[in-house]
Amino acid sequence: MNFQENVPLAPLTTFKVGGPARFLVEAASHAEVAGTVQFARAQSLPLFVLGGGSNLVISDAGWPGVVLKVAIAGMEERSENGKVLFEMGAGVEWDKFVARAVARNCSGIECLSGIPGSVGGTPVQNVGAYGQEVAETIESVLALDMKDGQIRELCNEACGFNYRTSIFNTSERGRYIILRVTYALEPGGVPRVHYADLKRYFVGRDAPTLAETRDAVRRIRAGKGMLITPGDEDCRSAGSFFKNPVLSPGQFDDLASRAAAKNLQIPSYPALDAQKKVSAAWLVEHSGFSRGHGHGPVGISRKHALAIVNRGAATAADIVAFKDEIQERVEDLWGIRLQPEPVFVGF
Ligand SMILES: Cc1cc2nc3c(=O)[nH]c(=O)nc-3n(C[C@H](O)[C@H](O)[C@H](O)COP(=O)(O)OP(=O)(O)OC[C@H]3O[C@@H](n4cnc5c(N)ncnc54)[C@H](O)[C@@H]3O)c2cc1C
Repeated sequence: MNFQENVPLAPLTTFKVGGPARFLVEAASHAEVAGTVQFARAQSLPLFVLGGGSNLVISDAGWPGVVLKVAIAGMEERSENGKVLFEMGAGVEWDKFVARAVARNCSGIECLSGIPGSVGGTPVQNVGAYGQEVAETIESVLALDMKDGQIRELCNEACGFNYRTSIFNTSERGRYIILRVTYALEPGGVPRVHYADLKRYFVGRDAPTLAETRDAVRRIRAGKGMLITPGDEDCRSAGSFFKNPVLSPGQFDDLASRAAAKNLQIPSYPALDAQKKVSAAWLVEHSGFSRGHGHGPVGISRKHALAIVNRGAATAADIVAFKDEIQERVEDLWGIRLQPEPVFVGF
């Protein structure tokens, strides 16, 4: 096992903030994952499971225990009941898997092209974008259950997927270490072009192929700073910082009357309306935090109102202070408390 002491964590994240880990272990097999758990227990140290580091705000103090970086490789493919099953090691880079699936002409995850992070990270918040989410195609998740040390295969239903949630980040947070995820994709399937941005991209063109859809999604994402692009400081972030709030009818009416009092109309997006969500980006922008809004070392991306970016020398404390300011202003003006999407580690 690859054990290191006092390792800076910032370089292992897309936000590039955070202090050191007391121990960092890269675990490349199921046995190494189990061995790392035993080590942390024997030393009475807290354990944190790290994937690709793309959905994290790590505190400036870092992590006082063991950080286990899941580095399990492997990509196996077989056909079953008319689907192609891809058994993916949790440490595989997500976008490499999407590229492979598209190259094999299998549909179901093409709209999730360009999302950073690992395969093992995708079930945790039920990753979604451009009209697709992984809950639709995950067949099962193989995980080490830290309650009793057993390896369990959880079927899709057992994962409790919902908007940006699963059992892994709610009811069973901290219980499972994901080792492998099996995806069931459609061979020869057609790409899903439902999302407004994608439809606009293909207006006037022939029905796109899977490869063209993947390419379009990556281009649209790059234009929003949502594709990790070397040298683009607008993607030094954790992606969207706030979830789109899901409102009750009463909350929605309250929001609508606050908007009407300001001569504003809440924008309507079919994808959000269907799930009774309102746009967090709109709330942020209409609370005085427009794209490019600066705040010393932190700010709002110049390309997307929902991304808080590290302009180079930000600390985790800077990011948290800016997040608090946005939450407070949005709540004051609109009566809605925005919930952050990234995971806060070591606070
Ligand atoms: C530029 C950018 C764009 C993004 N766009 C999107 C988007 O469109 N849609 C979207 O949903 N997300 C998006 N994200 C967020 C992020 O990429 C996803 O949430 C991603 O799946 C996180 O995976 P990760 O491997 O990086 O996990 P990490 O950030 O390393 O960890 C996130 C959480 O998952 C847990 N975890 C990770 N791996 C495992 C494992 N093997 N077992 C158990 N727990 C684990 C960690 O403990 C932590 O709680 C974006 C992020 C960035 C920076």
